[in-house]
Formats: sequence, structure tokens, C-alpha cells
Amino acid sequence: MNQRNQLIEPSQLDQLTQPKICLNCILPANFPGVTFNSEGICNYCQNFNGHEVLRNQKEHYEKEFLNLIEKYKGRSEYDCLMCYSGGKDSTYTLDILKNRFGLSILAVTFDNGFISPTAIDNCRKTQC
Ligand SMILES: [Zn+2]
Repeated sequence: MNQRNQLIEPSQLDQLTQPKICLNCILPANFPGVTFNSEGICNYCQNFNGHEVLRNQKEHYEKEFLNLIEKYKGRSEYDCLMCYSGGKDSTYTLDILKNRFGLSILAVTFDNGFISPTAIDNCRKTQC
């Protein structure tokens, strides 16, 4: 019997028709690197150490970032180099670096042939 003619028990239908997702955070099974335990909880939820640990990590990395700014800001024509795609995430980041931290930014875009015309247009229009 080939795979196409295999009998399926009714209890297996949910597994075949429902996409597998984490029962805690709904991360889908096709997310890179995700695994699930026997209770259907993903490895990212299993490894989450709580909001206080997360808050401490954010404070730690913010301090490191501010130390880098203090160390390098104003030492040359540009304070930093940034890969800029013209999408909303990199445009937001560019805005934060410029307007919150006052950095002089050299924004670089690489057209790999897959960049959308809108993104290229955004790159041309954006001033930093
Ligand atoms: Zn999860």
C-alpha cells in the first residue's frame, strides 16, 4: 500500500488538518529552529526565564549600546554604519539612531535584485 492509500484514524485528523502551533505563544511549527515538547509548548517558551530577566537583559544591552555611543560619537564623519533596506523596520531604526541618539549615520543599501521598487524609492526619499 502506498502512502496515498494509507488509512487514517479519526483521532489523527486534527494532526493532519490543523497546523501545529505552540499552545502558549502560537508560534508555528515552520518557524526556523522551533521544537515542541510533549505538551505542545515550543522551545522558545520553555527557555523564557521571565519578564524580570528579560528587563535586566534589555537594561544591560542598552548600557552597552550607550557606552559604544559615548566612545565613538563624533570621532569621525560618521558615527555608525547601518544596513538600510528601505523597509519599515530599518527606517524606524534609522529614525531612532538619528533623532533619539543624535548619530551621524552612513546608511548603506545593497540591491540584491530582490529589493522592491517601493523600498528603493523609500531609500532615495529618506534623509538622515
Ligand atoms: Zn511558544
